[in-house]
Amino acid sequence: MKYISTRGEAPALSFEEVVLTGLASDGGLYIPETLPHFSKEEIASWAGLSYEELAFNIIAPFVDGEIPDADLKALIHASYDTKTGKGFRHEAIAPLIQTGHNEWVLELFQGPTLAFKDFALQFLGNLLDYVLKKRDQKVVIMGATSGDTGSAAIEGCRDCENVDIFILHPYQRVSDVQRRQMTTVLEDNVYNIAMKGNFDDCQNMVKASFADQSFLPDGRQLVAVNSINWARIMAQIVYYFYASLALGGPHRSVSFSVPTGNFGDIFAGYLAKQMGLPIDQLVIATNCNDILHRCISNNDHTKQPLVHSLSPSMDIMVSSNFERMLFDLHGRDGAVIKQMMDTFKDGGDLSLSNDVLEKAQSLFSSYRLSDEETIDVIRDVFDSTEYLLDPHTAIGVQAARKTRRSTEVPMVCLATAHPAKFPEAVKKAGQAEDPALPHHMKDLFDREERYEILENDIAGVQAFIQSQI
Ligand SMILES: *Cc1c(COP(=O)(O)O)cnc(C)c1O
Repeated sequence: MKYISTRGEAPALSFEEVVLTGLASDGGLYIPETLPHFSKEEIASWAGLSYEELAFNIIAPFVDGEIPDADLKALIHASYDTKTGKGFRHEAIAPLIQTGHNEWVLELFQGPTLAFKDFALQFLGNLLDYVLKKRDQKVVIMGATSGDTGSAAIEGCRDCENVDIFILHPYQRVSDVQRRQMTTVLEDNVYNIAMKGNFDDCQNMVKASFADQSFLPDGRQLVAVNSINWARIMAQIVYYFYASLALGGPHRSVSFSVPTGNFGDIFAGYLAKQMGLPIDQLVIATNCNDILHRCISNNDHTKQPLVHSLSPSMDIMVSSNFERMLFDLHGRDGAVIKQMMDTFKDGGDLSLSNDVLEKAQSLFSSYRLSDEETIDVIRDVFDSTEYLLDPHTAIGVQAARKTRRSTEVPMVCLATAHPAKFPEAVKKAGQAEDPALPHHMKDLFDREERYEILENDIAGVQAFIQSQI
């Protein structure tokens, strides 16, 4: 299996190479040259498989023999084993909870950091450790986080011998739970930087560092852990199959509603559909940072100022993975995408032709919610079921209810975070107390923290990284 860039000008890479890269050298994102396709009979034969067994069947064709099957199975086992006391805590890995008639919530927050990003980053951490040991190579991970990505990446990589991980978060602008989930991990290879700036400043510094890596010692390179990394998308395809099989797929179609920021999670759902899984609707659910909803509903993909919402993990101005979608929508023509992205970057428009817009609208429904509506949904669902949604999941549930074409098709709303991560929204929805943290995190506020407070100055941050590796 070869991986190619969405902008058509970077060299094709192998699976292992793509795992160790960020953006392609032409500025594009890597994507498999061809997608595996499974027949209905084959998918049907997977009914009743464990999450790990299913993950192997779906991931193996992407790895395409570069990692021996037995080793790949071991990596998957290490990532989703519930017995270690460190990873996923629920036997079902991704439990389904019914919240209405033929409406389900897929709990993707049973991992160590209580957000769906653990699905990809537990696996990516193990994969990196394996590939780097084999190559006798050391790398530096550098990432920016507004909250969930950083903690999931740190949990995924804390035991990687050949990885030093540096996560930048905006000083005093992430929640206490989110900060402590990162800063209480005290392994020697984990470095938290609280930068005196906002999330965009952190992100820009990481981007600039990827573009010029000369500050690193010889032989070291940066690896990306945001959803630009193909392995993250790949690992997320699995739970679409898992949920469908649990609800009678592939003999019947299932729909999914996905709280969306960078378009990574819902893109995995689109890929599942392309790989043969019968999916009826794919709903893009956004908060007031609604570029994707505007694009799909109104062909308006203009940048708007970032608004801080009650669902901060979806506060994103431009969704990076949408480029992967645009690549498919334009017949996988890298030259077209390069041109589109160059124009967009220069402050131009990115409007879709009628054909492309129609194609996009046939693949996706979309809906946007304000903070007030989000709070109402948390309250309504709690009143009718005593089930407490986090604000991101609430957006997915309401988007599903508003756009659903048929109540005969099961609707699965992806629950991307545990409500205890976002007490502010939950309180506003009328809960008297903060939602309780799960058992394994009860002592979070008693644990020792370690982090470095640095100025918004790239030379200073890079000097710090140099001094630690
Ligand atoms: C990251 C995140 C999202 C958005 O996921 P994308 O893959 O960026 O679309 C939604 N909800 C939560 C809780 C997240 O952490």
